[in-house]
Amino acid sequence: MASSGMTFSAGTKDHDGPVASTSAAASAPAEDACLYCKKERRMYETDGCGHEAACKKCAMKTATGGKCKVCGQLFAGWRQM
Ligand SMILES: [Zn+2]
Ligand SMILES: [Zn+2]
Repeated sequence: MASSGMTFSAGTKDHDGPVASTSAAASAPAEDACLYCKKERRMYETDGCGHEAACKKCAMKTATGGKCKVCGQLFAGWRQM
């Protein structure tokens, strides 16, 4: 009778998974985007300093005046470009 020795080979092999690359493309606002909502296209300039700053929607919201987003001056209304 031959004594049978049992050998366990516990081989733990580290396998390298695919490295998750984080290449998140930052969505930069468009160059001609409204400075208030940053979504719509700018269509109006301030009646004052004359900076193009707002889309139609935001110009309507601040139709009675506000502060220019470009230079900080107060303006009395908007002019359509
Ligand atoms: Zn807007
Ligand atoms: Zn301005």
